[in-house]
Amino acid sequence: MARLKLLSKSFLFALLILVCGVSFSGYLAWKSATWIQTLENERFTTATKQTALLIRNKLNENIQLLHSAVAFITASDNVTREEWYFFTKEHTLETSFIGQEGLVYAPRIKINERTQHEELMHAEGLTHYQIHPKTSNADAYPIVLIEPFNERNKKALGFDLFSETTRQNAIKEAIQKRDIAISSKIQLIQRADSELNAGFIIVHPIYTKDILIKTPEKQDDAFIGIVSIAINAQKLFMDVLGARYITLDFEIYDGDTLLETEKLYDSNPSMKTARLEHNLLIDIYGKHWTLHFKTNEALDLGISQYLPWIELFFGIAFSFILAGWIYALQQTQKKAYAIAADKTKLLAKSESKIRTIFQTMQEGIIVLDKERIIIECNLAAQGMLGFSKSEIVGKSSNDLNWNFIHEDGSAFHMEDRPYYKVFMTGVPQSNIMIGMKRQDSLVLWLKMNAQPLYSDDFKDVNSVLITFSDITEYQKSKRELEKYLQIIDAHVIISSTDLHGIITEVSEAFCKISGYSQEELIGRSHNIVRHPDMPTTLYKEMWSALKKGISWSGEIKNRRKDGSDYWIETIIEPRYDEEYSLVGFTAIRHDITDKKRVEELSITDRLTGLYNRLKLDELFASYLSITKRHQTPFSIVLLDIDKFKSVNDTYGHQVGDSLLQEIAKLLKTNVRFEDAVGRWGGEEFLILLPNSNSEDARLLAEKLRGVIEAEDFAYVGSRTASFGVATYHQNDDEKSMTARADEALYLAKENGRNRVEVEIHTCNLPSSSTPS
Ligand code: GH3
Ligand code: MG
Ligand code: MG
Repeated sequence: MARLKLLSKSFLFALLILVCGVSFSGYLAWKSATWIQTLENERFTTATKQTALLIRNKLNENIQLLHSAVAFITASDNVTREEWYFFTKEHTLETSFIGQEGLVYAPRIKINERTQHEELMHAEGLTHYQIHPKTSNADAYPIVLIEPFNERNKKALGFDLFSETTRQNAIKEAIQKRDIAISSKIQLIQRADSELNAGFIIVHPIYTKDILIKTPEKQDDAFIGIVSIAINAQKLFMDVLGARYITLDFEIYDGDTLLETEKLYDSNPSMKTARLEHNLLIDIYGKHWTLHFKTNEALDLGISQYLPWIELFFGIAFSFILAGWIYALQQTQKKAYAIAADKTKLLAKSESKIRTIFQTMQEGIIVLDKERIIIECNLAAQGMLGFSKSEIVGKSSNDLNWNFIHEDGSAFHMEDRPYYKVFMTGVPQSNIMIGMKRQDSLVLWLKMNAQPLYSDDFKDVNSVLITFSDITEYQKSKRELEKYLQIIDAHVIISSTDLHGIITEVSEAFCKISGYSQEELIGRSHNIVRHPDMPTTLYKEMWSALKKGISWSGEIKNRRKDGSDYWIETIIEPRYDEEYSLVGFTAIRHDITDKKRVEELSITDRLTGLYNRLKLDELFASYLSITKRHQTPFSIVLLDIDKFKSVNDTYGHQVGDSLLQEIAKLLKTNVRFEDAVGRWGGEEFLILLPNSNSEDARLLAEKLRGVIEAEDFAYVGSRTASFGVATYHQNDDEKSMTARADEALYLAKENGRNRVEVEIHTCNLPSSSTPS
C-alpha cells in the first residue's frame, strides 16, 4: 500500500512536470504564433501600403504625361499628327509607359460640325475616317490623334469616346471638375481578348487658352476636347511589384466593393483562398479603387513560421523526457532507498546474528586494537580465561599478568605470539598451540587463530581478531593417549601393510620380536618374517579373506632375522580410508611361542620328537571323522623294528635310543606333509595316511622299508623293520583298524621280517609284497 502510495506520488509529480511542461510549451508556442502573426500582419500591411504607393505612382506617371499632353495641345493652335508623334516619342511612350495602349486627343465636335470634321480628316489623307458609332449626342469626341500610331490603334481613329457610357461618364466628370478623371472599368477597344482587355482611361479636358471663362456658357465654349490615355490594367500592374514581395498578390477592383465584374487586375487568378488578406481603398482624383491583397506564402520575417510548432514539438518532447527522466530518477532513487533500507535491515539483522554468534560461540573471541589492548571479548573467552568482561576489556595481556608457554613448557616470546605476528606481517596465524598460565597457576591450553582486521581503506591492520578454544582436556587426553600408544608400541606387535603386503608401519614390539629394525622392515614385503614351515595354503586362505575385506585370525610361526622362530597369534583387519576404500591391512599379534612350546611338548614323543601316542590318538580320531564325512580313503601303516632287543643287548640302551631317533628322522622326512608319524610304543611307529588307499599305503610302507634297509645306522650298521598296512572300511574305528594293522605286522614278522603285509579283510583278499 505504502509502495503504491509512493509510486502514485512520484507518478503524480512526473505528471505535474509533464502538464506544466506541455502547458508552458503550448503557451510559448501560442505566444510565438501570436507574435509571428502580428509581425506578419505588420509586414503584410506595410507591404500592401508600399504596393498601393507603387500603384499610385504608376498612375501618377501617366497623369503627368497627360498633363504634359494637355499643355502641349493647349500651347499650339492646331496640333498636327506629326507634332503629336514627336511629342509622344519625346516621352518614349512605348518603353516608359508600359500598359498604356494609346495617348489620344479627341476634339469636341458638335453635332453640326461632324461632316465638316470628317471632310477635313479626309483631306488630311485619312480617306476612310468617319466618326463612329453615330450617336444623336450634341457632342462627339472622336479620336483624331493617337500614339503609338500602330495598325491596331489606327482602327480606333474616329471612335467617338462619348458614344460609350463609361468613357462618357469619365469625360463628363473631367469637364465638370476641369481636371483629371479616371473612368470605371472598361473593355479596351484595341484588344479582342476580353480577359486581358480590362482597363480604364484617364481623361483631361482641354480649354482654349485665350477665352476667359467667366460664365458657364463661355466656359462651355472654351472646352474644345479631351486628352486621354487608355490603360491596360493587366500590363500596367503586372510589373508594379517587380522583384519585391514576390509572395504578395493583389487584386484591383473598380469601386469600393470586391465585385468580380469590377475586377481590373488580378496578379494571381489561380489563388482561390488566401492565408492573409487585406483590403485597401485608394482614391485617385476622386476615383475609388479597392486593392485586395492576399498571400499564401510566408512573408520573409527572418524567422521560421514553423517556430511555434518547433517550440511546441520540442517543448512537449522535452517535457515528456524531463517527466520520464524525473520519474525514472525517482523510481531509481526509491529503489535505491528501498535497497538501502533492505540492506540496512539485513545488516542490522546480520549484525545482531553475528553478535549472538559472537556471544554464544563455544570458541573464545578477543579483539585487540593496535596497542594490543583488548577491546572486545565474548562470553566463552571470559569463561575460559576466568575473567569478567569488565576485568578484561581495556587491558593488555601484560596488565593481566598472563604468561604464555609452548607445549614443551618454554616461554612464548612476544614476537612469536600469533597476534603480534599478525600486527607485524598481516598474515593470519592458525592453529597455534599456546599454554596460558593463569594467575591461579593453572595452565590453560589453547588452540589459537589470529586474523587481521583492516581499516576501511584496507591499508592497515588496525585490530586483530583472536579466536581460541580450550583444549586443556584434549591435551590431557592426548598425553595419556600418547603414553598408552607408547606402551602399545613397546608391547603390542603391530604392523600395517598396503594392499600388496608391503609393510608401511611397525611397532617397536614387532621390531623386538622379529629382530629387524623399523628401517629394515618398512617398505619390505611381510614375507620377510615368513617361516618355511608354514603351509602355503594357510597364506592363500588368509589373502582370499583379507581381499574380500574379511578379517583373518590364526596362529603363525614366523622366522626371526637370526633364523630362529617364534609363534604369534594374529588378527589381521582390513584398513579403509575416509572414502571407505580398502587401503591395506593392520595386524595385531601376541607372542604365543611359549604356549606353543608347551603344546608341542604335550604331543611330542620326548625321544624321537615324533607325535606321541596321545597326539596319534587325537589325529586318528580326527582323520577318521573326516574320512567318514567325506568318504575319502584313509590308511595306516604300523611298523616294528626287527630284532631290536638284540641292539639293546649288544650296544646298550643308549645306542638303542639313538637308533630309534635315526629311524624316526627317516620316517619323518620320507612321508608327505599331511601324513602324521608318531611313536606307537617301544620301537613301534604308526603312520596315519589321509587320502590314501590300501595300495598307496602299501607303496609308502615299501618305500620306508627300503629306506631303512638301505641306511647305515651309527654303531649298528644295517637294520630292518616290518610293516603292517590297514585301510579304512565302513564302521571301522581306531581299534579295529590298528588291530588289523597289527595282524598284518605280525604276519610280516611271521613271514621273515623286513616285509610289508597288508591286512586281511573279509571284503579284500590279502595281499603281500616281498622285498625285491
Ligand atoms: P622281533 O623282531 O620279534 O620284534 O624281535 P625283538 O627283539 O625286537 O622283540 P620285541 O619287539 O618284543 O622287543 C622289544 C624290545 O625293545 C624290548 C625292549 O627292551 C626294547 N625297548 C622297548 N622300548 C625301548 C626303549 O625306549 N629303548 C631301548 N633301548 N629299548 C627299548
Ligand atoms: Mg621288534
Ligand atoms: Mg616290538
